[in-house]
Amino acid sequence: METANNPEVPLEGSPYDLRVSLGEKVGELDIRAALESGESGFVHSFTTGSAVDGPGVRIVAWLSGCQFRCVYCHNPDTWKMTNGMPVPLSRAVEQIQKYRHDLQIIKGRLTISGGEPLMQHRFVLKVFAAAKQMGVHTALDSNGHLGDRLSDADLAVVDLVLLDLKAMTPELHKKLTGVDNKQVHEFARRLAAARKSIWVRFVLVPGWTDDMAEVERIAAFAAELGNVERVDVLPFHQMGRFKWEKLKMDYQLNDTKAPSREITEEAIARFRAAGLNAV
Ligand code: SF4
Repeated sequence: METANNPEVPLEGSPYDLRVSLGEKVGELDIRAALESGESGFVHSFTTGSAVDGPGVRIVAWLSGCQFRCVYCHNPDTWKMTNGMPVPLSRAVEQIQKYRHDLQIIKGRLTISGGEPLMQHRFVLKVFAAAKQMGVHTALDSNGHLGDRLSDADLAVVDLVLLDLKAMTPELHKKLTGVDNKQVHEFARRLAAARKSIWVRFVLVPGWTDDMAEVERIAAFAAELGNVERVDVLPFHQMGRFKWEKLKMDYQLNDTKAPSREITEEAIARFRAAGLNAV
């Protein structure tokens, strides 16, 4: 793919960097070939040293492309796949290899996030397979909607799934994301049947997801799965607002504040009351 192997393009960055049009010169056919082979992918950035995207200190690869349209998304520049930079598999693997020694010393790990990584599931599986060969723990941070793209055999290279549960009530889920949550639940149940570890991620947004009856419904679903090791209640913040402004996108949460400490604690307590390890 054009520009795919350009070492001048810095891969390191933050998910809060605004990145647009980095892969727009890639033709439709090349995009299709990349998705089918997994030999290259579209990457927003690589972050090293994250302590919040899974256990331990992690490298996080943020991929571009997402089929959800979450009203509270803090990375709307990742929605369009070609906003990310085209990166050959070999370069992505080199990136992990670069930190392999440090990762082994500090028992570090790799998380692939997005966007929605399963938009490029073949690329993800190949990167994870390479990481596993290096002895690096792998975590997939996903909204779960495309979970059926992974076979049970594919799950062998995924140590942990960080699964977003955004809402239980289908209408609310649709209002929040534009998409139904049936497939998310199917994927969660499959992971449970395969005894694959899940960390649930729930974003608490005042006026949108802070109805405690709804929080209890999510907690009940998560508890019933039996494989949820931890629940992260993530308080909404405005660090992504500038991206909505720069991209001239309609942002419905302009005036929404972060949830109070009290309401955040209350949500955590509802998850704990269902028997879950919530933080
Ligand atoms: S699933 Fe994640 S990346 Fe996709 S729109 Fe929602 S918050 Fe943004």
